[in-house]
Amino acid sequence: MAYKMDRTLSKGASDFIDAQKIEGLLSGVKEDKARYREIFDKSLEKNPLNLEETASLLAIRSQEGLEELFETAKALKKAIYGNRIVLFAPLYIGNLCINDCLYCGFRKSSGGTVRKTLTPEEIISEVKSLQDEGQKRLILVFGESPVYSPNFIASCVRTVYGVHSGKGAIRRVNINAAPLDVEGYRTIKAEGIGTYQIFQETYHRETYSKYHPASTIKGDFMWRLDGLDRAFEAGIDDLGIGALIGLYDWRFEVLGLVSHALHLKEKFGVGPHTISFPRIQPAEGMNLPLPYKCSDNDFKHLVAVLRLAVPYTGMIMTARESPEIRNEVIHLGVSQIDAGTHLEIGGYSSHSDKQALEREQFQVGDTRDLDEATKWLLEEGFIPSFCTSCYRAGRTGDRFMEWAEKGLINKFCTPNALLTLAEYLQDYASPSTRELGNALIEKEMQKMPEDAWKERIKNNLKKISLGERDLRV
Ligand code: SAM
Ligand code: SF4
Repeated sequence: MAYKMDRTLSKGASDFIDAQKIEGLLSGVKEDKARYREIFDKSLEKNPLNLEETASLLAIRSQEGLEELFETAKALKKAIYGNRIVLFAPLYIGNLCINDCLYCGFRKSSGGTVRKTLTPEEIISEVKSLQDEGQKRLILVFGESPVYSPNFIASCVRTVYGVHSGKGAIRRVNINAAPLDVEGYRTIKAEGIGTYQIFQETYHRETYSKYHPASTIKGDFMWRLDGLDRAFEAGIDDLGIGALIGLYDWRFEVLGLVSHALHLKEKFGVGPHTISFPRIQPAEGMNLPLPYKCSDNDFKHLVAVLRLAVPYTGMIMTARESPEIRNEVIHLGVSQIDAGTHLEIGGYSSHSDKQALEREQFQVGDTRDLDEATKWLLEEGFIPSFCTSCYRAGRTGDRFMEWAEKGLINKFCTPNALLTLAEYLQDYASPSTRELGNALIEKEMQKMPEDAWKERIKNNLKKISLGERDLRV
């Protein structure tokens, strides 16, 4: 039977974006050294910032102020997350779409786009290719269509978890799909998903209506803004927010994202698990005036402010960005990146070196494969992590927040990251990446105090070298 969505909003749904207040803060707050230094101190104690404090950091214009901001973001990232960077890959399942978002290659009016939905056999073949590269975490991406019903999405998740190629396994499946009704979210949650991600695109209502025709379901700003509240109501406490940067003033979007994070924390006691801030990229047939371009320098500013404003949230920088930009911005508070990304549908099992926009949603900036990206992270002194322990141990939502607030992320996450890296190095890495990775594991182990905990980790590393898999502390 065709899926019919119930368009009821969540209990107590509200429009929590106060545009007037945001505009007032953006025009009223000026750079003030004493004030921003006070705010740096507050965030270094891992306190989330309110809108006024965030606006004070957005008001920084001087080079000196920006440098201090970047240093503070780096220090905070280190204090909370250590030097781990979590790796994942997006898997595009299908690009049928009933919406007409003007910036997207999948929009229904795009005549040049090749439409495709993967069959279960094709999903299996894609996942095998991803596993054979060493991927452990995927995000499944869908257009919006009655074909992509909750049951359909749930069956895709089941198919992905069921694939095992060699020693490979996908241990966490996240979702980026249209906002659903509560029942729909329940159906998908039952398959054991990680994060449900919905990007608001823009928090600025008038701009939102400009890019999302009112005749489409996506044209309903409030249905989307309330999307993650309904997910929470259905029991999904692992939520990802985001804004498509470049549709409107990026400073407004930062305050929109912070308003969203504050709203979720206030209503449910749990902030977003991740924040994404993709910059708009060229897409098939896209010919749009985009007067709000966010420059590379602005992008660095944006990432650093978000890091400070929402300290416990994972920050995702996607392969939309070029390797050069990723190399700079990764230091400013990012904790997750995708790597080895192919956006063309079916592109992992059969890809060519050339990007074909008519098969993709938009153009990828960083086309390095997973081994190259892993090597790059190691060279930059990061621990590439494939860890999925928190979610599999049930540490999501308020349990994750409690755990993070007790400062336990570093104690558990660094060892678990090292264990997953050791697996990757042994099973998939090139010799030069393996050499670098093993040296990093050695160095990290040396930093740990000699105690029973370290013995446990050493033991697990030994077991991995002997072929055991999926070990964690
Ligand atoms: N169809 C669902 C939706 O719109 O929420 C989910 C998948 S959509 C393919 C994922 C995200 O891609 C969108 O939320 C949007 O932010 C982003 N996107 C669309 N067009 C883009 C472009 N030209 N450049 C960069 N990101 C884009
Ligand atoms: Fe469809 Fe999502 Fe693209 Fe909009 S952004 S056209 S909803 S796939």
